[in-house]
Amino acid sequence: MRYHNITKDDMLNGDGLRVVLWVAGCNHCCKECQNPITWDPDGGLYFDDAAKQEIFEQLDKDYISGITFSGGDPMHPANRPAVKALMEEIKQKYPDKTIWMYTGDSWEDIWQLPMMQYIDVIVDGEFILSQRDPKLLWKGSMNQRVIKVQESLKQEHPEIPVLHCGNYWGDPVETVQTLQDAPVSSCIM
Ligand code: SF4
Repeated sequence: MRYHNITKDDMLNGDGLRVVLWVAGCNHCCKECQNPITWDPDGGLYFDDAAKQEIFEQLDKDYISGITFSGGDPMHPANRPAVKALMEEIKQKYPDKTIWMYTGDSWEDIWQLPMMQYIDVIVDGEFILSQRDPKLLWKGSMNQRVIKVQESLKQEHPEIPVLHCGNYWGDPVETVQTLQDAPVSSCIM
């Protein structure tokens, strides 16, 4: 796995103060993506032991709520094995910290992956420019969903996600939000 950055004390990518790992590689090619430099899976830096220790040093701090995987896309095929292994290690070492993940993939396509057992919250779906709203909570466009992973997996129909929060600060949480029609914009990097 390769990555572009590790940011600290981040308040914009999940609940609380978080450490954020920005991985390299994304094949969704969303129009007006804010991080197109991260699309190339061969870009950035190799994720080595020093980078892992940098993350662990943040998770050692009581006031850090957890880690967010973003990018790029942690679900890019080039990233999946290393992301899963890192999540497993973090959950063993820091069971009280939360793991969030941003992905351009849809919940309906990934909920059965074994790595879901380690994730607390997923923000799913491609960024759709026509549905962009900067006031949305934890997401960039209305089609995306902020999903409680473990609660969703426990349901009789886990493919229907349980949402973590409403669309905006203070909104009630809707019980179910199914996939909205989204244009297919995938490309291969
Ligand atoms: S999923 Fe879309 S918005 Fe996110 S990094 Fe990939 S191209 Fe950019």
